[in-house]
Amino acid sequence: MDKEKRKHFTIMIIPHSEKKSVVLNVPVYIFKIISIMLVMTSILSIMFIKQYYDYREEAKYAQRSKQENKNLTREFASVAKDAIALRDKVAEIEELDILIRKQNDFDPTKSYYSAENRKALAQGGPEDKTKVTASSVVASEAQEAIQLIKESVPELQESLEELHTLMEKRNSEESAKPSIRPTSGNINSGFGYRKDPFTFRPDFHTGIDIANRTGTPIYATADGKVIHAKYDGGYGRSILIYHGDGISTRYAHLSRYAVDANAEVKKGTLIGYMGSSGRSTGPHLHYEVIINGKPTDPTKFLP
Ligand SMILES: [Zn+2]
Repeated sequence: MDKEKRKHFTIMIIPHSEKKSVVLNVPVYIFKIISIMLVMTSILSIMFIKQYYDYREEAKYAQRSKQENKNLTREFASVAKDAIALRDKVAEIEELDILIRKQNDFDPTKSYYSAENRKALAQGGPEDKTKVTASSVVASEAQEAIQLIKESVPELQESLEELHTLMEKRNSEESAKPSIRPTSGNINSGFGYRKDPFTFRPDFHTGIDIANRTGTPIYATADGKVIHAKYDGGYGRSILIYHGDGISTRYAHLSRYAVDANAEVKKGTLIGYMGSSGRSTGPHLHYEVIINGKPTDPTKFLP
């Protein structure tokens, strides 16, 4: 056999009939080509199937991501809306703070809020908050709102604390200032020049006289400290209270004391009872308001 012959296969097709047999002389390289083609087709098929499954997985993942993104977007929009609403609330509280300062004659310009903050807060949120979407506009607005809240809330706290201190001071000043009636009854002798009830000569009356029955309760007209509760000449049984800031009050002609010297009293504390002790013509309270040692018209300190 020569070399050429060995490189061929012979395929014989023998029909089960009278027909002649077919003899095919196939060269070996044809089989090689067919084998290579088969292998390549298989590889390509596997690659294609893998690609297909990968694509399907990716599509599923993309679908999930899309849903997640949608959820996140919705959640963000809700948080953004809350931040903007909160900023508006803070602005309202700041307005209220300023209003309280104005109503109480505290300097509203002394407020802690920076001018920029107040301006930004006054601008408020979008017209219609239901239209808020998670657009970048809303994102930046929400961010600004949160920044403002972060800056404003500590300032608001500081301002309210200052307001509290101012109010407390105001209240203690108010309660240390005589402002109520010391007892019930009619004022039958006013402050200033009058005829002396004993001598009928012109005399300066250093307080007012309030007449009522013996035993009518007498009250401190402001917070303070009892300087003395003693028999004091013409005043009879009398009480002197110091309220601070140079202001004192005197309650004279009592029948009885309800407090001792050095007692701390509040506006409205029962301090004694009406009488006619000392230089008196009948049961009444002689009430004085003394400012820096000078008797002042007590009616100016009555409600
Ligand atoms: Zn009097």
